[in-house]
Amino acid sequence: LLEVRAVSKSFGGLHVLRAVDLTIARGSITGLIGPNGAGKSTLFNIVSGFLAPDRGDVIYHGRPIGRISVVDRSRAGLVRTFQTPQVFGHLTVRENLVAGCHKLGRSGMLADMLGLPLARRELAQMQRRAALTAARFSLEPVADVLAGKLPVGQQRLLELARAAIADPELLCLDEPSSGLNGDEVDQLARMLTQLNEEGMTVFLVSHDMELMGCAATVNVLCFGETIASGPFAAVKADPRVREAYLGA
Ligand code: ATP
Ligand code: MG
Repeated sequence: LLEVRAVSKSFGGLHVLRAVDLTIARGSITGLIGPNGAGKSTLFNIVSGFLAPDRGDVIYHGRPIGRISVVDRSRAGLVRTFQTPQVFGHLTVRENLVAGCHKLGRSGMLADMLGLPLARRELAQMQRRAALTAARFSLEPVADVLAGKLPVGQQRLLELARAAIADPELLCLDEPSSGLNGDEVDQLARMLTQLNEEGMTVFLVSHDMELMGCAATVNVLCFGETIASGPFAAVKADPRVREAYLGA
């Protein structure tokens, strides 16, 4: 579904990525791990369009998307979350979810462009969808709470729910389990597995080995180079990977 081809990136004199290749197969959960400062977030930002590579290309659906904006990527089904959760703090959980529907809805977009209010029927549909999603992500009890007032665990869940509600083709997550407790990580892993079983492709960047258990293929990045790639069990047993983590 998506391919990173020989992508390099430097900041000043610092080579953060050196000709990195990575493949995200359609329908997979593909993981990316590596020690602090390995370049994971940089690669993630290049995949999601928040950074341009110095060299190399990102291919989505067989086409280079290097010049495609973040907004157009999200319309093409490529959606991301952030290392620190980005929710609309001044809106309620329910309103955040409705906003998530709005982002990808074709008629919503058209209404946006024309500056028109949404048809009442459409709004009712989005509200129904938001209610279903709130229930699914266990956010029903806080549906009317301002998102900014939620503890970070629930903000993360909300961010995931808001990204998932538009049914993206490729969902990219950077450190989605940071700040979560054990139960919340379990719930996150369950939700990701479920979304994946329903057909969503997931790109997962994380330190969290427990969460990585749900990935089919894991890539290991170290000092800007891929040092291993394959099923999680094989990658974990790789001596180069052990060394990289011990050295970190
Ligand atoms: P972490 O596990 O801590 O999230 P990471 O693998 O995500 O690390 P990156 O955030 O990609 O690593 O950073 C890789 C290196 O690039 C680090 O040394 C970082 O300081 C540097 N770096 C990242 N972004 C920039 C930037 N915008 N300007 C300068 N240096 C940067
Ligand atoms: Mg990072």
